[in-house]
Amino acid sequence: MSTSWDEASRCPRDGQYQGKVVKRAPQREGGQLITLECPETNCEYHTSGWIVQTRADGSIPDKIDPRTRERRFAPTPMAHARRRAVLDALEEQVASEQRAGSEVKQF
Ligand SMILES: [Zn+2]
Repeated sequence: MSTSWDEASRCPRDGQYQGKVVKRAPQREGGQLITLECPETNCEYHTSGWIVQTRADGSIPDKIDPRTRERRFAPTPMAHARRRAVLDALEEQVASEQRAGSEVKQF
C-alpha cells in the first residue's frame, strides 16, 4: 500500500487543505518522517499536526494518525500468541548462541 504525497499531505480531517511542512526527520533507513500542520487555524490538525512517512525512494507507505494508530495495532489474542511464539523462538536462539559461544571460548 502506498499513498501519493498530494493525498498524504492534505489535512486528515477533511482533505480540504494542503498541509504545511513544519519538520523533516531523516530516518536511518533513508526515508523521512515529515510533520505537517493544517493552515486552517480552527482545525485540530493546526496545533497537533500529523506525520507522513516517506521511504528511501520517496514513496509513502501509510499515513500515521496518532488517533487511529493505537487502535490499529491493538493486540488481538492471535497476535499476542504469535508474539509470544516469536519471543520464545528468540530466547531459544539467544540461549543456543550463548552455548555455542561458550563452547568456542573453551577451544
Ligand atoms: Zn485541517
